[in-house]
Amino acid sequence: MDIHESYSSCSPPAWLHRSLERLLASVPPGNLASLESIVLTDSTALPAGKTKRVGGRKYNSAECGAFYHYATRKRRAYIELLVDNALPRWANRVPLHYLQDALLADVLFHELGHHFATTVGDVGRGGEDAAEKWRQRLTRAYFPNAYPVAHRVFRIVARVALPVLRHWQKRRSSRRAA
Ligand SMILES: [Zn+2]
Repeated sequence: MDIHESYSSCSPPAWLHRSLERLLASVPPGNLASLESIVLTDSTALPAGKTKRVGGRKYNSAECGAFYHYATRKRRAYIELLVDNALPRWANRVPLHYLQDALLADVLFHELGHHFATTVGDVGRGGEDAAEKWRQRLTRAYFPNAYPVAHRVFRIVARVALPVLRHWQKRRSSRRAA
């Protein structure tokens, strides 16, 4: 499987390549054999327009973070990652490997999920649901193994911080709606 990079307007975080390699190394190589490549690019490379319907809704392709391109008779399947959409703007300032991997895994493992749902087997209800189930499975397999201590610490932090964040967000959106 190859990794191709071509950006026209954004410069990706310096850690992107190494994080991608760490995440891919956690996946059994046999599962990746039928994937042709991962293309790292940015949203300006995309033609304007709507994507295919996903979960009953069409998305503006320039807003999507990543695409899974199913295999055709002429080529194997590949994943396209639009780095500027897939990662937050402050991604290049994220310091820890654990957090860098968490940002990238969120997108990458979902797209790999589409691939594994097709090649290894479906979990969940197929389509987006299957990709999400695979994402969760790959995430659970990766982080506690790769970062046993950091994972435990961040889980505790998340358990405390997330309800606070959600409460704050709800207050903000209700104020905006008012
Ligand atoms: Zn998807």
